[in-house]
Amino acid sequence: MWRAATRLGGVIAIVLLTAQPQGVLGQDHGGGASQPAAVSCARSSFRVVVDVGHTLDVPGANSARGVPEYAFNLQLAREIKQALADAGFEQAVLMITGTAPWRGLFERATRANAMHANLFIAIHHDSVPDNLKHIWEYAGQKNEFNDDYPGYAIFISEDNADPAGSLLFGSLLGRELEHRGLHYTPHYTLALMGHRRRILVDAAAGVYRYDQLIVLRATRMPAVLLEAGSIVNRQEELELASPERRSLTSAAIVAAVENFCAMRTRPPVVKAAVSGH
Ligand SMILES: [Zn+2]
Repeated sequence: MWRAATRLGGVIAIVLLTAQPQGVLGQDHGGGASQPAAVSCARSSFRVVVDVGHTLDVPGANSARGVPEYAFNLQLAREIKQALADAGFEQAVLMITGTAPWRGLFERATRANAMHANLFIAIHHDSVPDNLKHIWEYAGQKNEFNDDYPGYAIFISEDNADPAGSLLFGSLLGRELEHRGLHYTPHYTLALMGHRRRILVDAAAGVYRYDQLIVLRATRMPAVLLEAGSIVNRQEELELASPERRSLTSAAIVAAVENFCAMRTRPPVVKAAVSGH
């Protein structure tokens, strides 16, 4: 997996070199991350696909209290889609998939490509590897938990058709989440994560590189996967189940989409800033 470190894409490498320690977006974005975008974008034609991670039948991780991840993903993704629509992104699509992996993963990308989406956001909730889980009893049932690694995480793939766009949106999103008092989990860089260990490509925003993710590498538009928080964490699970937390995350996504859309409306400026050319 560390072969990846030696072939860090030129774009990301340049951005990291020029932007540290402030992260990909540089210094001028710190305080104004949630301010309205300076340039308006064509919101009504900017299509965001909000992908509900996993399926009803193969629902992903189990929370510390035994609730399947899919239920968290569906509820949050619905609210994000609604928040985007309320903000004028009428073309936002809630993508629900019934086909199990692996076919279902390719199907998500194929559908997003066919509808010429401008941005793809996969919504997930995080767990930990099995060897890091502990047992407790909740409501008379034995459940697994891990309280050590709360926080969100954002993943991008360098194999996506637009890795620079993916990183840009991931960085914008992380900034908006941090701006609202949420914090990313740094544990993906730890050795104990084994083959799940990832390279942190934006240390200010919590953006990791995970090239192999099918929904990110098979999509032809900028794409990120958001782990909205850890549902195996007993405290964070309660927060993630609350309307307040969902609303914070939705608002951060809308703000990031607004900024991304506006920046993409002025490609010459963005290109120069992001690619270092
Ligand atoms: Zn998941």
